[in-house]
Amino acid sequence: MKRVLVSGGAGFLGSHLCDRLLKEGNEVLCVDNFFTGRRSNIHHLLDHKNFELLRHDVTHPLFVEVDEIYNLACPASPIHYQFDPVQTTKTSVIGAMNMLGLAKRLKIKILQASTSEVYGDPEIHPQPESYRGNVNTLGIRACYDEGKRCAETLFFDYHRQHGVPIKVMRIFNTYGPRMHPNDGRVVSNFIVQALKGEDITIYGDGMQTRSFCYVDDNIQGMYSLMNSRDGFTGPVNIGNPGEFTMLELANEIIELTNSKSKLVFLPLPQDDPMQRKPVIDLAKKELNWEPTIKLRDGLTKTIEYFEGVI
Ligand code: NAD
Ligand code: UDP
Ligand code: UDP
Repeated sequence: MKRVLVSGGAGFLGSHLCDRLLKEGNEVLCVDNFFTGRRSNIHHLLDHKNFELLRHDVTHPLFVEVDEIYNLACPASPIHYQFDPVQTTKTSVIGAMNMLGLAKRLKIKILQASTSEVYGDPEIHPQPESYRGNVNTLGIRACYDEGKRCAETLFFDYHRQHGVPIKVMRIFNTYGPRMHPNDGRVVSNFIVQALKGEDITIYGDGMQTRSFCYVDDNIQGMYSLMNSRDGFTGPVNIGNPGEFTMLELANEIIELTNSKSKLVFLPLPQDDPMQRKPVIDLAKKELNWEPTIKLRDGLTKTIEYFEGVI
């Protein structure tokens, strides 16, 4: 039995990862400061004999004994990561350093939840891992994007300099049950608005695109990456190559919820990427992974979840 640390384990993806790791027979140490994470995400695990919760901020050192680390701690939605941008960069950079220091001391494997945001507003489409990105270092998204880029640098330097075994995953937009209803991301916003019969807020003209991956597919990719062959570090894109405009997404959600909501058009936020779609050849080859859940099916499950919580 392995003892696995999940930082950010009370968040959306982290809580699903805790579920999976427990199901695989591991012990889980969930470390979270509850900035965006919620007790309700892990409430069902609190009595599990192999689950332990530690309220802790990863910008501070942490001395525990574990066998493996998944580093997910970091707010992921623009309204949350822009609420305290300095803290966001600290969480990504100092948090990564502390988790890497822990991995180095214990000589254990560590996985980083990086992001498609390292590609910024991409000039090539779709994005392979070799693309170096187009981030505005001065913009309002940079606290997140550059924090995550620097964390990747730290991962590769700890690997080269100290021999720490690393796995770096670049996650593209992921959605599903346990997304925060107020976190401002497009899928949760549109579903909540549609269910409440409120206006659906399209930023810009709605022609920008994203690729949406259902949470179960993401977690399968994350688990496969952690257990991939020794020496495979990534970075590897994990996302669904299906590409949709925000207008298409809104119309799909209106149809699935039978909503009477109308579309309203609001200004596009600064530095909002126009398009995003992963190349997933590397994940297919190295992890034998590809997404299996269609947008329509994933949205249906997500709508069911939101019906129960709002
Ligand atoms: P989330 O906000 O639901 O989860 C992040 C978790 O980290 C929360 O539980 C939060 O309380 C915790 N946290 C934040 N700062 C912390 C700190 N200083 N110390 C300890 N805990 C802290 O977001 P999520 O969607 O579950 O994202 C998880 C990870 O995946 C993040 O690193 C995010 O950048 C990455 N990611 C997610 C997506 C996505 O579409 N969901 C896309 C790309 C990357
Ligand atoms: N660290 C930690 N837990 C550990 C080992 C290290 O939190 O078990 C922290 C440590 O306090 C430091 C960071 O991780 O701030 C990086 O550790 P490293 O050993 O690389 O650096 P050093 O301690 O030599 O500065
Ligand atoms: N978006 C939108 N309406 C909303 C929330 C978001 O049109 O209510 C747009 C946003 O401008 C962006 C896309 O949806 O173009 C995805 O936004 P999200 O914050 O979910 O993810 P990210 O921009 O980080 O990929």
